[in-house]
Amino acid sequence: MSHIKVIKTKDDLDLEEFEAGEVHRVHVHLTDNPLGVPWRIPVILVKGKYDGPVLGVTAALHGNELNGISTIFKLIEDIDPNELHGSLILVPISNVPGYLGNRRFFSDNVDLNRIMPGKENGSTSQLYAHFFTSKIISKFEYLLDLHTASHGRVNSLYIRADLENEDTRTLAYLQNPQIIVQKFDEEGTLRGWANERDIPAITIEIGNPSAFQHSLIDETLEGILNTLRHLKMIPGRVENMVNDATVCDHSYWIYSKKGGIVDVLPSLADEVTKGQVIARIYDVFGQIREEVVADKNGIVIGKNINPSCNAGTRILHLGVNFIDPAPETIPGHDDFNDH
Ligand SMILES: [Zn+2]
Repeated sequence: MSHIKVIKTKDDLDLEEFEAGEVHRVHVHLTDNPLGVPWRIPVILVKGKYDGPVLGVTAALHGNELNGISTIFKLIEDIDPNELHGSLILVPISNVPGYLGNRRFFSDNVDLNRIMPGKENGSTSQLYAHFFTSKIISKFEYLLDLHTASHGRVNSLYIRADLENEDTRTLAYLQNPQIIVQKFDEEGTLRGWANERDIPAITIEIGNPSAFQHSLIDETLEGILNTLRHLKMIPGRVENMVNDATVCDHSYWIYSKKGGIVDVLPSLADEVTKGQVIARIYDVFGQIREEVVADKNGIVIGKNINPSCNAGTRILHLGVNFIDPAPETIPGHDDFNDH
């Protein structure tokens, strides 16, 4: 049975135009494709009945990173616009051509998350990025950008955020991940641009590409609902979920030196010790060419799962230098919402 509601088409996203206390489904025109037909980006606006902040959630900015789509769909089911304070702007498919091709990049092979905020007088991807940021993201007051590992790799559920910035650290500590990693804002990323514009933003990396992983999706949703409670958009107690996470003040990839057939040994979120063999690289006769070892104690944030391995392949993403968050930096664990 179909429950399809009205879908509107707009040239811009003007929040004032939309009725409060309703969910609006809008195709927003960003740019045009070579047929001269608009690239329209789907936006779900949950406009609360009451005043409050605007929280944006974006997914699939890399077109094959899909766990965030299901996260957004489940979030809509949990929110009643008649009870909501403020608005949710949800963008399940941020990179429309990438999604259509089941690939990371935009149609001109450019990574949208390296060219933000784009250019009005620029290439096809720069133009799309320009309208994406100006028509959509600039309307946000907070941003959660949902990603996954890249093709051929897998990720834990982890957060990339600048923990030295109080606003983004608070956002990070409201989530429900396995791992949180200190990452300063990187040039050209959506997160970096938003933070520069005083829209506190973090990246949530949810597992693997080209899949729906429902246990990770449900964990992510818990963190987003916790964020809504902290922002007083919905009632309820703000949970302290940081204690269950490993917080790292640095992370990096370990690369192979030799080419061959690689077998990466530890599982996601495993702790490894300095000197531990984390991967074996075989020749095509099954003989070991290289044993890759961890150069520090750490935790496995992500890893390669594609056995075919060039020399210089990213093998394992290691989080290091564990830190205990200071209690006063953990958002309101005794904080009750009073409505
Ligand atoms: Zn991504």
